[in-house]
Amino acid sequence: MLGSGARAREAFFDLVYEPRRDGEGAVVGIQMIGVETTQVKHAQGLMLEHQVLLEQIARQALLGDVLDGMARCIESLTQNDVRVSVLLADPDGAHLRHGAAPSLPDFYNQAIDGIAAGEGIGSCGAAAHRRGPVIVTDIATDPFWDDFRELAGKAGLAACWSTPIVARDGRLLGTFAMYHGVPRVPQESDFALARVFTGTAALAIERHHVELAKAAAEARARAAHEALAEAVRVEQKLRAEAEERAAAAAELAAQMRAAAVAQADSPHPEQCQLGGRAGCTAPVELKVTDSWGDSAWGCFIHAEEALFNVPSVFLASEESKGLAAYRNR
Ligand SMILES: [Zn+2]
Repeated sequence: MLGSGARAREAFFDLVYEPRRDGEGAVVGIQMIGVETTQVKHAQGLMLEHQVLLEQIARQALLGDVLDGMARCIESLTQNDVRVSVLLADPDGAHLRHGAAPSLPDFYNQAIDGIAAGEGIGSCGAAAHRRGPVIVTDIATDPFWDDFRELAGKAGLAACWSTPIVARDGRLLGTFAMYHGVPRVPQESDFALARVFTGTAALAIERHHVELAKAAAEARARAAHEALAEAVRVEQKLRAEAEERAAAAAELAAQMRAAAVAQADSPHPEQCQLGGRAGCTAPVELKVTDSWGDSAWGCFIHAEEALFNVPSVFLASEESKGLAAYRNR
Protein backbone atom coordinates (compact mmCIF):
# COMPACT_ATOMS: atom_id res chain seq x y z
CA MET A 1 0.00 0.00 0.00
CA LEU A 2 1.33 3.43 -0.91
CA GLY A 3 0.13 6.55 0.86
CA SER A 4 -2.53 6.61 3.54
CA GLY A 5 -6.12 7.58 4.21
CA ALA A 6 -8.20 8.70 1.23
CA ARG A 7 -5.11 8.65 -1.01
CA ALA A 8 -3.92 5.15 -0.15
CA ARG A 9 -3.45 2.84 -3.12
CA GLU A 10 -2.26 -0.69 -3.73
CA ALA A 11 0.82 -0.94 -5.92
CA PHE A 12 2.89 -3.78 -7.40
CA PHE A 13 6.67 -3.76 -8.06
CA ASP A 14 9.35 -5.92 -9.66
CA LEU A 15 12.40 -5.68 -7.38
CA VAL A 16 15.97 -6.46 -8.49
CA TYR A 17 18.72 -6.72 -5.86
CA GLU A 18 22.41 -6.59 -6.96
CA PRO A 19 25.54 -6.69 -4.83
CA ARG A 20 27.95 -3.72 -5.20
CA ARG A 21 31.61 -4.79 -5.01
CA ASP A 22 34.83 -2.93 -4.50
CA GLY A 23 37.98 -3.37 -6.63
CA GLU A 24 38.88 -6.59 -4.73
CA GLY A 25 35.46 -8.08 -5.38
CA ALA A 26 34.24 -7.74 -1.82
CA VAL A 27 30.55 -6.90 -1.36
CA VAL A 28 30.21 -3.38 -0.03
CA GLY A 29 26.51 -2.88 -0.53
CA ILE A 30 23.35 -3.91 -2.26
CA GLN A 31 21.71 -2.01 -5.09
CA MET A 32 17.95 -2.38 -5.24
CA ILE A 33 15.96 -1.38 -8.33
CA GLY A 34 12.18 -1.36 -8.07
CA VAL A 35 9.98 -1.03 -11.17
CA GLU A 36 6.31 -0.40 -10.56
CA THR A 37 4.17 -2.90 -12.51
CA THR A 38 0.79 -1.93 -11.10
CA GLN A 39 -0.44 -0.59 -14.41
CA VAL A 40 0.78 -3.62 -16.33
CA LYS A 41 -0.90 -5.93 -13.82
CA HIS A 42 -4.13 -3.93 -13.96
CA ALA A 43 -4.02 -3.78 -17.74
CA GLN A 44 -3.59 -7.55 -18.01
CA GLY A 45 -6.53 -8.24 -15.69
CA LEU A 46 -8.57 -5.58 -17.42
CA MET A 47 -7.87 -7.01 -20.88
CA LEU A 48 -8.91 -10.51 -19.87
CA GLU A 49 -12.15 -9.41 -18.21
CA HIS A 50 -12.87 -6.94 -20.97
CA GLN A 51 -12.49 -9.69 -23.56
CA VAL A 52 -15.12 -11.77 -21.73
CA LEU A 53 -17.55 -8.83 -21.72
CA LEU A 54 -17.03 -8.13 -25.42
CA GLU A 55 -17.71 -11.79 -26.20
CA GLN A 56 -20.91 -11.61 -24.14
CA ILE A 57 -22.02 -8.52 -26.07
CA ALA A 58 -21.20 -10.22 -29.38
CA ARG A 59 -23.26 -13.25 -28.30
CA GLN A 60 -26.17 -10.83 -27.66
CA ALA A 61 -26.45 -11.78 -23.99
CA LEU A 62 -29.19 -9.92 -22.09
CA LEU A 63 -28.20 -6.33 -21.32
CA GLY A 64 -28.84 -6.83 -17.59
CA ASP A 65 -26.49 -9.83 -17.56
CA VAL A 66 -23.72 -7.97 -19.42
CA LEU A 67 -23.93 -4.94 -17.11
CA ASP A 68 -24.07 -7.17 -14.03
CA GLY A 69 -20.97 -9.02 -15.24
CA MET A 70 -19.24 -5.73 -15.92
CA ALA A 71 -20.02 -4.43 -12.42
CA ARG A 72 -18.73 -7.62 -10.77
CA CYS A 73 -15.62 -7.57 -12.97
CA ILE A 74 -14.68 -4.04 -11.89
CA GLU A 75 -15.41 -4.86 -8.26
CA SER A 76 -13.02 -7.80 -8.48
CA LEU A 77 -10.31 -5.88 -10.41
CA THR A 78 -10.22 -3.06 -7.88
CA GLN A 79 -8.39 -3.71 -4.64
CA ASN A 80 -10.34 -1.06 -2.76
CA ASP A 81 -13.87 -1.72 -1.59
CA VAL A 82 -15.78 -0.49 -4.62
CA ARG A 83 -19.39 -1.01 -5.62
CA VAL A 84 -20.46 -0.35 -9.20
CA SER A 85 -23.79 0.96 -10.45
CA VAL A 86 -25.02 1.44 -14.00
CA LEU A 87 -28.12 3.56 -14.58
CA LEU A 88 -29.84 3.63 -17.98
CA ALA A 89 -31.18 6.87 -19.48
CA ASP A 90 -34.78 7.09 -20.68
CA PRO A 91 -35.06 7.72 -24.43
CA ASP A 92 -35.47 11.45 -23.77
CA GLY A 93 -32.45 11.46 -21.45
CA ALA A 94 -34.44 13.17 -18.69
CA HIS A 95 -34.50 10.32 -16.17
CA LEU A 96 -32.24 7.44 -15.13
CA ARG A 97 -33.46 3.89 -14.55
CA HIS A 98 -31.86 1.03 -12.67
CA GLY A 99 -29.52 -0.92 -14.92
CA ALA A 100 -27.18 -3.00 -12.79
CA ALA A 101 -25.77 -2.70 -9.27
CA PRO A 102 -25.25 -6.22 -7.95
CA SER A 103 -23.47 -5.08 -4.77
CA LEU A 104 -25.75 -2.22 -3.74
CA PRO A 105 -28.73 -2.98 -1.45
CA ASP A 106 -32.16 -3.33 -3.10
CA PHE A 107 -33.69 -0.48 -1.09
CA TYR A 108 -30.97 1.83 -2.46
CA ASN A 109 -31.46 0.72 -6.07
CA GLN A 110 -35.23 1.13 -5.77
CA ALA A 111 -34.89 4.64 -4.30
CA ILE A 112 -32.49 5.73 -7.08
CA ASP A 113 -34.54 4.17 -9.92
CA GLY A 114 -36.11 7.00 -11.94
CA ILE A 115 -34.08 9.96 -10.61
CA ALA A 116 -33.94 12.99 -12.88
CA ALA A 117 -30.85 14.03 -14.80
CA GLY A 118 -30.04 17.43 -13.35
CA GLU A 119 -27.45 19.59 -11.64
CA GLY A 120 -27.01 18.65 -7.98
CA ILE A 121 -29.07 15.42 -8.14
CA GLY A 122 -26.43 13.12 -6.64
CA SER A 123 -23.34 12.27 -8.67
CA CYS A 124 -25.21 10.38 -11.40
CA GLY A 125 -27.99 12.90 -12.06
CA ALA A 126 -25.34 15.61 -12.34
CA ALA A 127 -23.03 13.53 -14.57
CA ALA A 128 -25.97 12.77 -16.87
CA HIS A 129 -26.89 16.45 -16.95
CA ARG A 130 -23.33 17.67 -17.55
CA ARG A 131 -22.37 14.86 -19.94
CA GLY A 132 -19.13 14.77 -18.00
CA PRO A 133 -17.66 13.00 -14.93
CA VAL A 134 -18.78 14.12 -11.47
CA ILE A 135 -16.43 13.08 -8.69
CA VAL A 136 -17.85 13.29 -5.18
CA THR A 137 -15.07 12.24 -2.81
CA ASP A 138 -17.12 12.69 0.36
CA ILE A 139 -20.89 12.31 0.29
CA ALA A 140 -21.15 13.55 3.89
CA THR A 141 -20.19 17.10 2.90
CA ASP A 142 -21.03 17.42 -0.80
CA PRO A 143 -24.09 19.58 -1.54
CA PHE A 144 -24.98 17.39 -4.57
CA TRP A 145 -25.95 14.71 -2.09
CA ASP A 146 -28.18 16.85 0.17
CA ASP A 147 -31.31 14.93 -0.91
CA PHE A 148 -29.69 11.47 -0.84
CA ARG A 149 -27.23 11.72 2.07
CA GLU A 150 -29.39 9.80 4.52
CA LEU A 151 -30.10 7.09 1.94
CA ALA A 152 -26.38 6.78 1.10
CA GLY A 153 -25.57 6.58 4.81
CA LYS A 154 -28.04 3.73 5.28
CA ALA A 155 -26.37 1.88 2.37
CA GLY A 156 -22.89 2.54 3.80
CA LEU A 157 -21.75 4.72 0.88
CA ALA A 158 -19.25 7.54 1.45
CA ALA A 159 -17.95 8.46 -2.02
CA CYS A 160 -19.42 8.28 -5.52
CA TRP A 161 -17.66 8.93 -8.80
CA SER A 162 -19.98 8.98 -11.77
CA THR A 163 -19.19 9.05 -15.51
CA PRO A 164 -21.81 9.49 -18.22
CA ILE A 165 -22.23 6.72 -20.79
CA VAL A 166 -22.61 8.40 -24.15
CA ALA A 167 -23.46 6.94 -27.57
CA ARG A 168 -21.31 7.53 -30.65
CA ASP A 169 -23.88 10.10 -31.83
CA GLY A 170 -23.71 11.96 -28.50
CA ARG A 171 -26.97 10.61 -27.05
CA LEU A 172 -26.95 9.99 -23.29
CA LEU A 173 -27.23 6.23 -22.66
CA GLY A 174 -26.76 6.19 -18.88
CA THR A 175 -24.24 6.62 -16.11
CA PHE A 176 -21.49 4.47 -14.67
CA ALA A 177 -20.77 5.00 -10.98
CA MET A 178 -18.14 3.68 -8.59
CA TYR A 179 -19.16 3.89 -4.93
CA HIS A 180 -16.84 3.57 -1.95
CA GLY A 181 -17.49 2.86 1.71
CA VAL A 182 -14.95 5.51 2.78
CA PRO A 183 -14.23 8.98 1.36
CA ARG A 184 -11.83 8.51 -1.56
CA VAL A 185 -10.06 10.49 -4.28
CA PRO A 186 -9.79 8.65 -7.62
CA GLN A 187 -6.39 7.64 -9.02
CA GLU A 188 -5.42 7.73 -12.69
CA SER A 189 -6.03 3.94 -12.84
CA ASP A 190 -9.61 4.52 -11.63
CA PHE A 191 -10.22 6.98 -14.46
CA ALA A 192 -8.71 4.49 -16.92
CA LEU A 193 -11.05 1.77 -15.63
CA ALA A 194 -14.04 4.11 -15.91
CA ARG A 195 -13.07 5.06 -19.49
CA VAL A 196 -12.75 1.46 -20.64
CA PHE A 197 -15.98 0.32 -19.03
CA THR A 198 -18.15 3.29 -19.98
CA GLY A 199 -17.06 2.52 -23.57
CA THR A 200 -17.99 -1.13 -23.12
CA ALA A 201 -21.30 -0.23 -21.45
CA ALA A 202 -22.08 2.14 -24.35
CA LEU A 203 -21.46 -0.70 -26.80
CA ALA A 204 -23.71 -3.07 -24.84
CA ILE A 205 -26.53 -0.50 -24.45
CA GLU A 206 -26.39 0.59 -28.10
CA ARG A 207 -26.47 -3.06 -29.14
CA HIS A 208 -29.50 -3.54 -26.88
CA HIS A 209 -31.24 -0.53 -28.47
CA VAL A 210 -30.62 -1.99 -31.93
CA GLU A 211 -32.14 -5.31 -30.77
CA LEU A 212 -35.17 -3.49 -29.32
CA ALA A 213 -35.66 -1.51 -32.54
CA LYS A 214 -35.38 -4.70 -34.57
CA ALA A 215 -37.93 -6.47 -32.35
CA ALA A 216 -40.30 -3.47 -32.59
CA ALA A 217 -39.95 -3.38 -36.38
CA GLU A 218 -40.67 -7.12 -36.54
CA ALA A 219 -43.74 -6.68 -34.31
CA ARG A 220 -44.96 -3.85 -36.56
CA ALA A 221 -44.42 -6.00 -39.65
CA ARG A 222 -46.31 -8.88 -38.01
CA ALA A 223 -49.19 -6.56 -37.04
CA ALA A 224 -49.33 -5.14 -40.57
CA HIS A 225 -49.32 -8.65 -41.99
CA GLU A 226 -52.15 -9.70 -39.64
CA ALA A 227 -54.16 -6.59 -40.52
CA LEU A 228 -53.73 -7.41 -44.22
CA ALA A 229 -54.76 -11.04 -43.65
CA GLU A 230 -57.85 -9.85 -41.75
CA ALA A 231 -58.73 -7.43 -44.56
CA VAL A 232 -58.43 -10.28 -47.07
CA ARG A 233 -60.64 -12.51 -44.88
CA VAL A 234 -63.30 -9.75 -44.59
CA GLU A 235 -63.14 -9.10 -48.34
CA GLN A 236 -63.57 -12.82 -49.08
CA LYS A 237 -66.52 -13.04 -46.67
CA LEU A 238 -68.19 -9.99 -48.25
CA ARG A 239 -67.64 -11.40 -51.71
CA ALA A 240 -69.09 -14.79 -50.65
CA GLU A 241 -72.13 -13.01 -49.16
CA ALA A 242 -72.56 -10.93 -52.33
CA GLU A 243 -72.34 -14.12 -54.41
CA GLU A 244 -74.95 -15.79 -52.17
CA ARG A 245 -77.27 -12.81 -52.53
CA ALA A 246 -76.77 -12.73 -56.30
CA ALA A 247 -77.54 -16.46 -56.48
CA ALA A 248 -80.68 -16.00 -54.33
CA ALA A 249 -81.78 -13.06 -56.50
CA ALA A 250 -81.24 -15.12 -59.68
CA GLU A 251 -83.27 -17.99 -58.19
CA LEU A 252 -86.10 -15.65 -57.21
CA ALA A 253 -86.09 -14.10 -60.70
CA ALA A 254 -86.39 -17.58 -62.23
CA GLN A 255 -89.27 -18.44 -59.85
CA MET A 256 -90.99 -15.16 -60.72
CA ARG A 257 -90.65 -15.81 -64.45
CA ALA A 258 -92.08 -19.34 -63.99
CA ALA A 259 -94.96 -18.00 -61.86
CA ALA A 260 -95.71 -15.31 -64.47
CA VAL A 261 -95.95 -17.99 -67.17
CA ALA A 262 -98.24 -20.13 -64.98
CA GLN A 263 -100.50 -17.17 -64.09
CA ALA A 264 -100.63 -15.70 -67.59
CA ASP A 265 -104.07 -17.12 -68.39
CA SER A 266 -105.74 -16.13 -65.07
CA PRO A 267 -107.97 -13.07 -65.27
CA HIS A 268 -106.07 -10.02 -63.96
CA PRO A 269 -106.06 -6.21 -64.01
CA GLU A 270 -104.09 -4.38 -66.71
CA GLN A 271 -101.90 -2.26 -64.44
CA CYS A 272 -99.59 -3.02 -61.49
CA GLN A 273 -101.41 -2.73 -58.13
CA LEU A 274 -98.21 -2.55 -56.02
CA GLY A 275 -96.94 0.92 -56.93
CA GLY A 276 -98.23 2.32 -53.62
CA ARG A 277 -99.52 5.89 -53.41
CA ALA A 278 -97.38 6.97 -56.38
CA GLY A 279 -99.02 4.28 -58.50
CA CYS A 280 -97.46 2.21 -61.26
CA THR A 281 -98.54 2.10 -64.88
CA ALA A 282 -96.40 -0.89 -65.80
CA PRO A 283 -98.31 -3.90 -67.16
CA VAL A 284 -99.12 -6.70 -64.76
CA GLU A 285 -96.73 -9.65 -64.85
CA LEU A 286 -97.57 -11.85 -61.83
CA LYS A 287 -99.62 -12.32 -58.66
CA VAL A 288 -98.33 -12.32 -55.10
CA THR A 289 -100.27 -13.28 -51.99
CA ASP A 290 -99.87 -13.43 -48.23
CA SER A 291 -100.75 -15.98 -45.60
CA TRP A 292 -104.05 -14.17 -44.78
CA GLY A 293 -105.33 -14.67 -48.31
CA ASP A 294 -104.76 -11.11 -49.45
CA SER A 295 -103.34 -10.96 -52.94
CA ALA A 296 -102.36 -8.43 -55.62
CA TRP A 297 -101.09 -8.29 -59.18
CA GLY A 298 -97.94 -6.35 -59.98
CA CYS A 299 -95.13 -5.67 -62.37
CA PHE A 300 -91.90 -7.64 -61.88
CA ILE A 301 -90.17 -4.78 -60.06
CA HIS A 302 -92.94 -4.11 -57.54
CA ALA A 303 -93.73 -7.79 -57.02
CA GLU A 304 -90.09 -8.43 -56.22
CA GLU A 305 -90.03 -5.44 -53.86
CA ALA A 306 -93.08 -6.85 -52.02
CA LEU A 307 -91.49 -10.32 -51.82
CA PHE A 308 -88.35 -8.78 -50.26
CA ASN A 309 -89.98 -6.30 -47.90
CA VAL A 310 -93.14 -8.00 -46.59
CA PRO A 311 -92.25 -11.08 -44.56
CA SER A 312 -95.46 -13.03 -45.22
CA VAL A 313 -95.67 -12.42 -48.97
CA PHE A 314 -95.00 -15.21 -51.47
CA LEU A 315 -95.68 -15.96 -55.10
CA ALA A 316 -99.29 -17.03 -55.66
CA SER A 317 -99.49 -20.45 -57.26
CA GLU A 318 -102.51 -22.56 -58.12
CA GLU A 319 -100.33 -25.66 -58.23
CA SER A 320 -99.67 -25.73 -54.48
CA LYS A 321 -103.47 -26.20 -53.95
CA GLY A 322 -103.34 -24.50 -50.52
CA LEU A 323 -104.99 -25.09 -47.16
CA ALA A 324 -108.43 -26.05 -48.62
CA ALA A 325 -106.89 -29.17 -50.12
CA TYR A 326 -105.30 -30.00 -46.78
CA ARG A 327 -108.59 -29.48 -44.85
CA ASN A 328 -110.42 -31.73 -47.24
CA ARG A 329 -107.80 -34.45 -47.13
ZN1 LIG B 1 -95.50 -1.89 -60.72
